Amino acid sequence: MTKSGAAANLTDPGKTKSVVIVGGGTAGWMTAAYLKAAFGDRIDVTVVESAHIGSIGVGEATFSDIRHFFEFLRLEESDWMPACNATYKLGVRFEDWREPGHHFYHPFEQLGSVDGFPLSDWWLRMPQSSRFDRDCFVMAALCDAERSPRYADGTPLAQGVFENVGGGQSARSNIAEYQGAQFPYAYHFEAHLLAKFLTKYGTDRGVKHITDNVVDVALDEQGFVSHVDTAENGRLSGDLYIDCTGFRALLLKQALGEPFVSFQDTLPNNSAVALQVPMDMERKAIRPCTTATAQDAGWIWTIPLISRIGTGYVYADEYLSAEDAEKTLREFVGPEAADIPANHIKMRIGRSERSWVKNVVGIGLAAGFVEPLESTGIFFIHHAIEQIVRYFPGGRDDDVRRDAFNRSIEHVMEGVREFLCLHYVGAKRADNQYWKDTKTRKIPDALAERIEIWKHKVPDSESVYPYYHGLPPYSYNCILLGAGGIEVKHSPALDLADPTAAQVEFDRIRLKADKLVQELPSQNEFFAAMRANAK
Ligand code: FAD
Repeated sequence: MTKSGAAANLTDPGKTKSVVIVGGGTAGWMTAAYLKAAFGDRIDVTVVESAHIGSIGVGEATFSDIRHFFEFLRLEESDWMPACNATYKLGVRFEDWREPGHHFYHPFEQLGSVDGFPLSDWWLRMPQSSRFDRDCFVMAALCDAERSPRYADGTPLAQGVFENVGGGQSARSNIAEYQGAQFPYAYHFEAHLLAKFLTKYGTDRGVKHITDNVVDVALDEQGFVSHVDTAENGRLSGDLYIDCTGFRALLLKQALGEPFVSFQDTLPNNSAVALQVPMDMERKAIRPCTTATAQDAGWIWTIPLISRIGTGYVYADEYLSAEDAEKTLREFVGPEAADIPANHIKMRIGRSERSWVKNVVGIGLAAGFVEPLESTGIFFIHHAIEQIVRYFPGGRDDDVRRDAFNRSIEHVMEGVREFLCLHYVGAKRADNQYWKDTKTRKIPDALAERIEIWKHKVPDSESVYPYYHGLPPYSYNCILLGAGGIEVKHSPALDLADPTAAQVEFDRIRLKADKLVQELPSQNEFFAAMRANAK
C-alpha cells in the first residue's frame, strides 16, 4: 500500500462516475453486470482480475431472490441457463439432522395461516403425519418425487401457485420490497460459467476487462484509495473501488485495515473439501433441491447440475482433519470419486466490521461469508449490489449513505448467522462430541431469547430476526419443526378453536401436491426435452 494524491471527486457535476472492480469471480462479474444494467453508459466500469489467482470455484446453489437479479439484467432463463448448465431448485433438503434416515425440506413456499394462526401451530395441534413439511407445504412432495417446477411444454408454475391460505408470512424481496407470494424456485449453476456468461454480458455493454494482478493499492492523505497499480497495465483509478478479491479482501482489509468480526465462536465450521462428480442424466436423478447431509463434524452438500454434481464436506477443523474429511467425502460419493481431484478450502467465517469504508465497498467473500448451509453467499452479493445502487455514492461527504449501507449489510449477515445457529442448536442429533457441542455452544443472545418464545409459540413475524433483514418466519418454522431438537408447543387457544378450516387446508395441500406430482415432469425429463427441442 502506498500514499499518493487526491482521489477523483464523485460530486463533480456532469462527471461520468467511474468504478474499478478488483476481482472477477461471481461477485466481481455480478456487480459489473448489475451496475451496467442500472446505469448504462452513464458510468464507466472496469473489472481487473488476475489470471494467476483463481476464484473460489464453488458457490452453485442459490436462494429464490436470485430471480430478481436476472430480471434486472432483462435475461430470460433460456438466455443464460443452458450456458451455465443450470437446474432448478425448490428448496434445501436436510438429511440426518434429526436422526439417521430422516429428512425434511426448507422449501421456497409460504406457510399459510388459518383463523390468524400459522399452519405450523395448527399442525402441532393436529398433525396429519409425522412430516411437518409434507403436511404444510406442497413443495415437499414435489421434492420427494423429484419434480421440475416447469411443465413439459416449458410453462412455469405461476408465481403464487403455492400461496397458501392466509398468506400472512410472505417472503421478502430486496428490490421489490414485499411481494405477495414467494417465488417458487431458485437455481443451481456452474459458478465459473455464470462468471463467463456475465463477462460477455458486461463487456458487450461497455465494461472494460483487464486481466492482470493488482500489486499495490495507493491511498491519499485522507485515506481514500487514489489508484491501484497493476503488474502489466499500469495505474487504474476511479471514483469508487469495489473489492471483490474474495477472502483476501485486498482493498478493504489489507489496504484500509478494516477489522473483521469473526463468527467462529457461534459457527465453528471453517473448512471445506469439494469434488466435481460427472453427471450422467440417464442414471442419476437431478433432484430439484440442494441436499445438506449431516456428518460427524459438519455436513455434505450435493448440488445436481446438467453437467455434474457439485459436492463438498463443510467441517470444523477442530474436530476433523482435512485428510479424514476428504476420505469421508470420497466414501459418500462412491467409487466414481476415486480419480477426481479434491479442492480444499479454508473459510473465513464472519464479516468485515463495515463493508463500505471511504471509497471502497467490499462485495462477496471480501465483505463476509457464513458457511453455505442455506446457500446465502450469492444472496449476500445480490443484496449488497442492490444496496450499493440504492445508496450510490455522491461524494466524500457520504457518511449517512455509507452508514445506512453498512447497517443493511450487517443486519442481513447477522440475521443469517442467527438462522444458521438455529440449525445446529435445533438439530436433534447429538451422537458425538461435535453434535453434543452444538447444544452448549454460544449462540447470539437474541436467538436464545427467541428460542424460549418459540417453545411456546411458533415463529411469527413478531418473534423472528427483524423481518426485512432476516429470513421470513416460515423459514424458522421449517428448521425448528424439521430438525426436531427443540420441543415446541401449540398455542393453547387452538384447543378452544374450531379446527374445521385448518383440516380443509391440510386436505387442500395434500390434494394439490398429489395433482402436481402427477402433472409435472421430473427434472431429467424436463431438461432432456429442452435439449431435444434445442437441436
Ligand atoms: P472469488 O471467487 O474468490 O474471486 C476472487 C477474484 O479476485 C478472482 O477473480 C481473483 O482472480 C481475483 N483477485 C484476487 N486477488 C487479486 C489481485 N491481487 N489482482 C487481481 N485480481 C485478484 N454461495 C452460494 O450462494 N451458494 C453456495 O452453494 C455456496 N457454496 C459455497 C461453498 C464453499 C465451500 C464456499 C467457500 C463458498 C460457497 N459459497 C456459496 C459462496 C460463493 O462461493 C461466493 O460468495 C462467490 O463465489 C463469490 O466469490 P467472490 O467472487 O467473492 O470471490
